Amino acid sequence: MSVVEATVESIAAAARTLREGGLVAFPTETVYGLGGDATNERAVAAIFEAKNRPQFNPLISHVPDAATARAFVRWNDTAEKLASTLWPGPLTLVLPRSEGSPIALLATAGLDTVAIRAPSHPIAQALMRATGRPIAAPSANRSGEVSPTRPEHVAQSLGARAPMILDGGPCLVGVESTVLDLSGDMPILLRPGGATREAIEAAIGPIALSDAIPTGDAARKSPGQLHSHYAPSRPVRLEATSVSRDEGLLAFGDTVPTGAMLTMNLSPSGNLGEAAANLFAMMRALDRPGIGRIAVMPVPHTGLGLAINDRLRRAAADDDSNRQR
Ligand code: AMP
Ligand code: MG
Repeated sequence: MSVVEATVESIAAAARTLREGGLVAFPTETVYGLGGDATNERAVAAIFEAKNRPQFNPLISHVPDAATARAFVRWNDTAEKLASTLWPGPLTLVLPRSEGSPIALLATAGLDTVAIRAPSHPIAQALMRATGRPIAAPSANRSGEVSPTRPEHVAQSLGARAPMILDGGPCLVGVESTVLDLSGDMPILLRPGGATREAIEAAIGPIALSDAIPTGDAARKSPGQLHSHYAPSRPVRLEATSVSRDEGLLAFGDTVPTGAMLTMNLSPSGNLGEAAANLFAMMRALDRPGIGRIAVMPVPHTGLGLAINDRLRRAAADDDSNRQR
């Protein structure tokens, strides 16, 4: 781990690392983020691995400005109003994924929406512009610890898992960004944070709080809650060691049972980072007409395997009443 002064040279080196799929911790006005290329499934898997998150929660993709955001989400008038007054700043907008959006499926935990934000911190701005990619960045700490607001917090928490930490001193806002869901008819506040409700309502009028949303619309409540997770519409059978003809097989490793209607292998070499990177795309590919059920081979419960198994368990446990896109 190394804390480096943010200079033109170190920011260029950080941008190169990000473009090559590596991770960089950097300051934003809210907290320090552990950043990776949001369009690179492997880089996003590496973020979850470094944080030791036992679940794949969707991550926020960071961009320099609204013009850039438009390439990744279906932008709308409400987003435009908010961005013109509150961006760059501590406000995250949840918007539908645009068609062909290159944001990694793992970054959105398979959801059809993308959480996107333009941070105002000058080092974050310089890094994003030098990288030329959206940057997925949750807080730069091990899962379960408080968010870091100084570079030394990042170093203490992540150690060698954050090979490079750009030093921006203490974060000025110090709390996470406000998350506002604009993917439906009514804007919904999913998480209070650095941008106040008053400032948001001054720009767009009244917003709803997620607690006030009827359970029927639970899909739009904040992830972390079961209902907002992507689940295939077909039944999922876990720990499969053999398959039947009407099944699609989600395989892992090099010893794969034959006879499935369609087989997709998360990682023939048994690499959990590769498996995480393929997980959502392969679940979607198997969730299609002609396939009666998705059978999943056992995946080890170590490292990223914990989050993979958590996701698979939720997919298998889901019944029709809570199956959401
Ligand atoms: P963090 O990266 O730790 O600041 O957390 C990101 C926050 O954004 C979490 O509260 C997520 O639940 C929320 N979030 C990210 N993506 C989405 C999405 N597509 N829909 C709803 N909430 C999201
Ligand atoms: Mg956090």
